[in-house]
Amino acid sequence: MTWTRKDRAVGEEQAPLYLRSDPTPGRQYGDSAPPQRDPAVVRRPHLDPDLLAKQVLAGERTAIARAITLVESSKPSHHAVAADLLRILRPYSGKAVRVGITGVPGAGKSTFIDALGRKLLDAGHKIAVLAVDPTSAKTGGSILGDRTRMGELAQSENTFIRPSPAGAHLGGVARTTRESMLVLEAAGFDVVLVETVGVGQSEVAVAGMVDTFLLIALARAGDQLQGIKRGILEMADVITVNKADGDNEGEARVTARELSIAMKLITSDPNARRPPVLTSSALTGKGLDEVWKAIVGHRAALEADGALEARRAHQQREWLWALVRGELEDALRTSGSVSAIRAGLEARVEQGDLSALEASDQILKAFAADAPSLWPEHPKH
Ligand code: GDP
Repeated sequence: MTWTRKDRAVGEEQAPLYLRSDPTPGRQYGDSAPPQRDPAVVRRPHLDPDLLAKQVLAGERTAIARAITLVESSKPSHHAVAADLLRILRPYSGKAVRVGITGVPGAGKSTFIDALGRKLLDAGHKIAVLAVDPTSAKTGGSILGDRTRMGELAQSENTFIRPSPAGAHLGGVARTTRESMLVLEAAGFDVVLVETVGVGQSEVAVAGMVDTFLLIALARAGDQLQGIKRGILEMADVITVNKADGDNEGEARVTARELSIAMKLITSDPNARRPPVLTSSALTGKGLDEVWKAIVGHRAALEADGALEARRAHQQREWLWALVRGELEDALRTSGSVSAIRAGLEARVEQGDLSALEASDQILKAFAADAPSLWPEHPKH
């Protein structure tokens, strides 16, 4: 018969029982003292930011993963710990080469990052790959979630690949990507590649967090600019026409020339630095070195005339206001007083009973009345 606690007489003194997770044979029950455990494990439930920061700075992979999960967490109880962690890590961050990589789906971004990343690993770099892809939240997958596409790169101890967190909107993805970048830089990753999908607002978010923005284009697929949005071309610091191999190579060069001319027309300032337009093949490796040189060259030019600091300072200022706007929008959505009058005001504005200006005034007044409860003592982050 198996012994259970119920078999004991009522009122009998019950010694505490400690279950040992240690699988060594021997007595498993009845130890009078709790088993000694690694302090990191004991403290884990409390998520000690000092300890976690120390482990991140030491480059411990599990700690890095845990720190990123923490900054991605939407649990309110995690926000303060994440903020503490980031405050400790911030002085150790900022040293990496931050590169944004965009291109339409199928342009070869994953293959390119895999090939370039392996070259950089061989040169002794530590590579972090992040993604800003809010669409992945909708489709349930992520461009980087499929690790097989960066299979070789993902194998290395000196690589850290993190897909976009699922279920987050662009603002959320942008925040967590920035913060993950900070964690990874503090952990010693000196090249951060941020991939995005090339089809919308996520490019703006990525341009706001990197030093150099690389556009991966394809050889003429129909029209000259192959549907690349002008705004994305304007953001590019380096352009490469990819898949320049086999029969495609000549066509890729022609496209590169065309894009180069197009860039002249796009940049209105004649003194502005125009992005170099190169050709490359992730398959053969041809041109990858030149693309990396152009990226490093762009960054060096920024550094030389103090523009890198200015760019990062500008990015921080923009980011500050993006956060404020995001918070305000969230608060506006959750404000009870606004919800109470929203539908009525909308209906009256639609019918022409009330001007939009008057209605907005009422909404803002209701919102202001709610504000103290929307921002309680402890900030969210
Ligand atoms: P992504 O959607 O931009 O990440 O594109 P992928 O990296 O997944 O590549 C899309 C397709 O293009 C895959 O079938 C790749 O094998 C192929 N591809 C990627 N890079 C090259 C290249 O340099 N040359 C050729 N010929 N094909 C490539």
